[in-house]
Formats: sequence, structure tokens, C-alpha cells
Amino acid sequence: MNLRKSVHTITSSTVGILYPKQCCLCQKELSIEEHYVCLPCSYDLPFIEHKSIEAKQAEKIFWGRIPIEGVYSLFNYQKGNQVQQLLHEIKYKRKLKMGQFYGQLLAEQISDSTIDLIIPLPLHPKKERKRGFNQSKIIAKGIADKLNLPINTKCVKRTAHTLSQTQMTKYDRWDNVRSIFELNQATTISNKHVLLVDDVLTTGATLESCAMSLLEGQNVKVSVATLAVRL
Ligand SMILES: [Zn+2]
Repeated sequence: MNLRKSVHTITSSTVGILYPKQCCLCQKELSIEEHYVCLPCSYDLPFIEHKSIEAKQAEKIFWGRIPIEGVYSLFNYQKGNQVQQLLHEIKYKRKLKMGQFYGQLLAEQISDSTIDLIIPLPLHPKKERKRGFNQSKIIAKGIADKLNLPINTKCVKRTAHTLSQTQMTKYDRWDNVRSIFELNQATTISNKHVLLVDDVLTTGATLESCAMSLLEGQNVKVSVATLAVRL
């Protein structure tokens, strides 16, 4: 008898009994077919339908600011709603597989076949080391798997931690947007359509700043995909 194998089997089944998988929204035990969120809670999630009014509103966030080809979001984020809880689980409770799972669902919304590569919004390297991962990379991986596209994490770097308060306000942005990103390998994205990925789109200031750096490349197009958008 392979003792090591049987110990493993016992341990994993015991863990299964002690900690059955629960819906991260209502804590109900999940069936084998349910992933992360139970079916009734999934029905209540504020999904954004492709080409809906909400999808149009998301695109409008960047209007008059920066040329963005397309904006794709899976959920409508409101303070205190289920989506805030989902994002919290991914970002702060390290539910990385769950981030990938919703990244795959987000990929189903992306109809533009001209996209060449995926770039997750970079975190500052110090912040990424501290957190242990970058949630945008996790979501990007889900999208990349589904669309069979490459991910590039090298060509744009974050050189500052966050935008200042002034830069976050919508109205002063043209005066104040100081680039906090740096395009490294401009030729990698020459003549490419890049999909820039983040967890949530709110004012769009950080994504705008990163897209500005990407657009310094030659004949580059940028689209944006986020798990959620605050409308
Ligand atoms: Zn539930």
C-alpha cells in the first residue's frame, strides 16, 4: 500500500468534509457544478450585457480623453453591491483561480478579433512583491486562455505608486496627468492592438495614464477590459 498516497487521500477528503466549498456571497455550500458563487447568487449578479446601454456608458468614460477602441466590462460595480464583495475576495483573500474564472467569462464579451496581445495594468514592483501577486495579471490570464492570445508584462512599467489626488479628479486631468507608466519595449507593440486589463474601472484615470504610455508606440491601438465598471 502506498502510504503517502493514502495519507494524501485521507487528508484531502477530511479537508473536504471540514471545509466544504462555499458560495463567497451567501456562504451556502456549493454543488460540484457551481463555481465560487451559487446559482441563485449568480442570477442576481449585475452582469453587463454586450452592446447594452450600460456597455455604451462604460465606453463613454474615455470619450474626449484618449482614443480607446473598445471598453469591455463584465459587471456593474456599485459601492456595497455583490461585485464589490467578489473583487474583494479576489484581491484581498487571494482567490486567484476565481479571478481567472471571471476573466474567462469576461473574454466571452470581447468580440473584437483584431486584438493582438494582452497587457495587465502593472502594479508598482514594490506593491506587487508586498501583495504577492497582481490581480490584473490573474484576470488577464483568464482572458488570454480563452482568446488564445499572448500576455506581455514587460513592455510597460509602473514608475510611481499611485496618482495624486489632483490627478484623480476628472476636471484637472489634462493639466495634471503626469505619466506614472513608462513604455519600455515600444517596438513589441508597434502596429498592434493591445487589450489593457484591470480589475475595476472607476474614474479611468490610471487606465488612461497607462494607455497614454502605450499610445507612444508606433501605430498602436488600445482597448480596455475590466471585471467591473462603476457607472
Ligand atoms: Zn450564494
